[in-house]
Amino acid sequence: MKISTLLQAAKPAISFEFFPPKTPQGEAALFRTLHELKSLNPAFVSITYGAGGSERSKTARWAERIQNEVGLVAMAHLTCVGSTREELLSMLHQYALAGVQNIMALRGDPPQGVRAFQPVAGGLRYASELVALIRAEFGNTFDVAGGGYPEGHPEAVSLEADLQNLKRKVDAGLDFVVTQLFFNNALYFGFVERARRLGITVPIVPGLMPITDLAQIRRFMDMCGASIPGPLLSRLEKAQTPQEVLEIGVEHTTRQARELLEAGVPGIHLYTLNKSPATRQVMQNLQTVLR
Ligand SMILES: Cc1cc2nc3c(=O)[nH]c(=O)nc-3n(C[C@H](O)[C@H](O)[C@H](O)COP(=O)(O)OP(=O)(O)OC[C@H]3O[C@@H](n4cnc5c(N)ncnc54)[C@H](O)[C@@H]3O)c2cc1C
Repeated sequence: MKISTLLQAAKPAISFEFFPPKTPQGEAALFRTLHELKSLNPAFVSITYGAGGSERSKTARWAERIQNEVGLVAMAHLTCVGSTREELLSMLHQYALAGVQNIMALRGDPPQGVRAFQPVAGGLRYASELVALIRAEFGNTFDVAGGGYPEGHPEAVSLEADLQNLKRKVDAGLDFVVTQLFFNNALYFGFVERARRLGITVPIVPGLMPITDLAQIRRFMDMCGASIPGPLLSRLEKAQTPQEVLEIGVEHTTRQARELLEAGVPGIHLYTLNKSPATRQVMQNLQTVLR
């Protein structure tokens, strides 16, 4: 099933994101989580792509298992990191063989400690080049999604330049955009408004993450350039127990999601970090809006 069809439906498409686990225990835990979250009827789930060589082939395998063993529509991520054009094409063939119909096409991040992204010899420099490659070699075999940054990508020279680059990526053949996580809806609404003014017409799905661990979220913030509103941060800092952090995180994401759904967004993409409790609670809180 192609996700663009699901995004055109009257009902908003709720989706969950997972990463391929590194250990057999992690794999068993992810299967449990997937089965627990399946009962919430997500429109699709997405599975990220690791930077390390051995990690890369896991995405195709997980996408296949999610579709065949769990029975959910999967979107497999793919990045340009460390791969030549031929290696990317080979991975795309693996995706096609695995029955994957939806791909999140990304550039990826430079290794830790390296500031600027450097493609390998014969590799690709920007996600827009990967999107163009997919369209040139595979036509419409896949639906192709790309990342969008309501607060601007950390390497972008300006918000305007970043948006122009998003337009390039969309023009190369994106079917829809999923945003980086954000904690202030005004950032998303402003981003969508500027994107529409620039002629970007594809659906822009907001990405949300319920905060469950303050130290972890601070690390993410450093990496992806998203900000936490002051009042939310000070509530989290005052929390005495992990349970209290989770409750504040769930409450905030619920409030964000409710406002976004009421504004008519095409879907909500929840970053789960492979855990189900916070996602389940957010979904439960949204039942009345999602009906
Ligand atoms: C929804 C989502 C899912 C993600 N999943 C993964 C994952 O599975 N695995 C992973 O490793 N990472 C993942 N990431 C992180 C992503 O790889 C990083 O944010 C990365 O730094 C940028 O990837 P991109 O595809 O947005 O890059 P691009 O769209 O290529 O943009 C990267 C930078 O280059 C600039 N740029 C783009 N085109 C041009 C141009 N023609 N000229 C000059 N500058 C240009 C942009 O403004 C931006 O600053 C994800 C991000 C998002 C939002």
